Amino acid sequence: MVTMDSTNDVDVLIVGGGIAGLSLAAELAGACRVALVEAEPSLAYHTSARSAQQLIPSYGPAPVRELTRRTLTRLADAADDDGRRLAWPSRFMLVGTRAEVAAEAHAGMDALSPEEARKVAPVLREGAFEAAALDHDSWRTDAPALLAHLEARARAAGVRIHVGSPVHTAQRVGEGWLVGAGAEGFHARNVVNAAGAWADDVAILFGVERLGLQPFRRTAALVSLAEPLSPDTPMVAAADDTWYFRPDAAGALVSPSESEPSRAEDAIPRPGHIERTLELIRAVADLPVTGIVRAWTGLRTSPADGLPVLGFDPEAPGFFWLAGQGGYGFQTSFALAEDAAGQLLAGADALRSGAHPVSETERALDPHRLSVRR
Ligand SMILES: Cc1cc2nc3c(=O)[nH]c(=O)nc-3n(C[C@H](O)[C@H](O)[C@H](O)COP(=O)(O)OP(=O)(O)OC[C@H]3O[C@@H](n4cnc5c(N)ncnc54)[C@H](O)[C@@H]3O)c2cc1C
Repeated sequence: MVTMDSTNDVDVLIVGGGIAGLSLAAELAGACRVALVEAEPSLAYHTSARSAQQLIPSYGPAPVRELTRRTLTRLADAADDDGRRLAWPSRFMLVGTRAEVAAEAHAGMDALSPEEARKVAPVLREGAFEAAALDHDSWRTDAPALLAHLEARARAAGVRIHVGSPVHTAQRVGEGWLVGAGAEGFHARNVVNAAGAWADDVAILFGVERLGLQPFRRTAALVSLAEPLSPDTPMVAAADDTWYFRPDAAGALVSPSESEPSRAEDAIPRPGHIERTLELIRAVADLPVTGIVRAWTGLRTSPADGLPVLGFDPEAPGFFWLAGQGGYGFQTSFALAEDAAGQLLAGADALRSGAHPVSETERALDPHRLSVRR
């Protein structure tokens, strides 16, 4: 039976409890009545629990880089209630042939000779690569700590969070939506679609046209090492996008860097994929791997133009998109939440009339650009 009490009458109902939904819940907390529903029995079960936790300001197209800069401005100084920092500097290095590195390196990266690169990461093999580029301005985050911090901020300000509550029914009623999620019923003035790989499916549930968001598989693993890497070893990535590794408390994190289209699902690694990746890495670096501790696959979801989607749906009043973050969901999280909260609190009329001006980045992310009904 679906139950509905007055606490389920909200200004904003957020669908999805990953980094996108939780950062928006924390941003809106205290400003209006907010609830968040998550289909799984725990928050951040899908892609947000499976990332590499790296924040690279030079990575991605211009709007993503702007969002990353703004996110880092806030995240660089942030700490949780126990005083633990939520982000810290962590360098990033590309290696490969001269042509590959030249094609992939961003302005601002230092070009390094192989000898210089081997001083930065002594595990790299002599003669195994021609060129390298080092990004000093790259950061790491502690994703579980960050997610817990956002959840605590949201709950402390009264956001109701319901796990094990998949949205199953939705209907436009008057000025808002009647939504069934698990055993709960909600009346929401605005609904935010922060459902990651399922964002198009959620739109369809609301009778809203999908935007063509495509999930792509990406696998990663923690491997144990006979000897730990020096903690200041940067994340090292093949410039031809076939692998990366970086030090981790338990040894090293490795990834085949694949980007393979998938349906929305609880993705799992393909047999042998990490072993094959370790072979590729072994040709370039002496990683003393003793075993695979844990491997996982997550879905990075993007629309055709590779930019996140943020804004009110062009045709469905009160239906707001916060999706398509691809491989940038953590590094853009605070800025996306800030922009989404600004637009939601201002309302669609203020956006239409220009009373709430939007930035160039916000215009680039507007779902209007993807609508098949344009
Ligand atoms: C291997 C890997 C490495 C990555 N590395 C990085 C990195 O270094 N830096 C970076 O910034 N990003 C990285 N990413 C990308 C980043 O993890 C994602 O962009 C981000 O996690 C997406 O967050 P989300 O909240 O949109 O999606 P999710 O975390 O998937 O959350 C969406 C939630 O919506 C819920 N949901 C779906 N349907 C419903 C429904 N009907 N009702 C209720 N809830 C529903 C789902 O259960 C899910 O929990 C990486 C991703 C992968 C896979």
